[in-house]
Amino acid sequence: MKKKFVFATNNVHKLEEVTAILGDKIELLSMNDIHCHADIPETADTLEGNALLKAHYIYDNYGIDCFADDTGLEVEALGGAPGVCSARYAGDAHNSEANMRKLLQELEGKENRSAQFRTVFALILNGKEHLFEGIIKGTITKNRKGTSGFGYDPIFVPDGYRQTFAEMGNGLKNQISHRALATHKLCNFLLK
Ligand code: IMP
Repeated sequence: MKKKFVFATNNVHKLEEVTAILGDKIELLSMNDIHCHADIPETADTLEGNALLKAHYIYDNYGIDCFADDTGLEVEALGGAPGVCSARYAGDAHNSEANMRKLLQELEGKENRSAQFRTVFALILNGKEHLFEGIIKGTITKNRKGTSGFGYDPIFVPDGYRQTFAEMGNGLKNQISHRALATHKLCNFLLK
């Protein structure tokens, strides 16, 4: 029988990304599939903590092996901010325009524009915790460029490339991204 896991997300794009790598070797359920409509509070002060909170919520309440992810943009000159607060850096959750405006303002006059996206997956398997990390390093541009993607994509250029994530499009971005790296580590572990 196939192993069954919940991916503690309702983000369709994330589900598709993981399903594409796992293929049909594992039965992957979303929160909708298990009729969980909770908005699980992300109250931890680290990406690891938030990913574990979400995975534990499902495992503890539904008794199914589960994994969850959390991602942040960590800017060197800002001591790792916005980091775990990336979604609500400028106040409102998921207001990308305001978040980018605030970040560009914070970096005004600073020479060091190095940054990294970091994704953490937390897996709870038979009650045991496992963490998987994916990092992509790059720099923050001075202006927004490109229209694809989401979040901070228009102002992040990964090392080794000249285009922002938003200019390169989802095809290439999804091959090289922080989330892709972490997803591959998680899937390799699940399939071994
Ligand atoms: P989440 O943990 O995937 O929900 O990500 C938290 C926040 O980080 C998002 O709301 C975005 O602002 C930012 N973020 C995460 N992944 C990406 C990405 O691939 N590109 C740009 N921004 C991202």
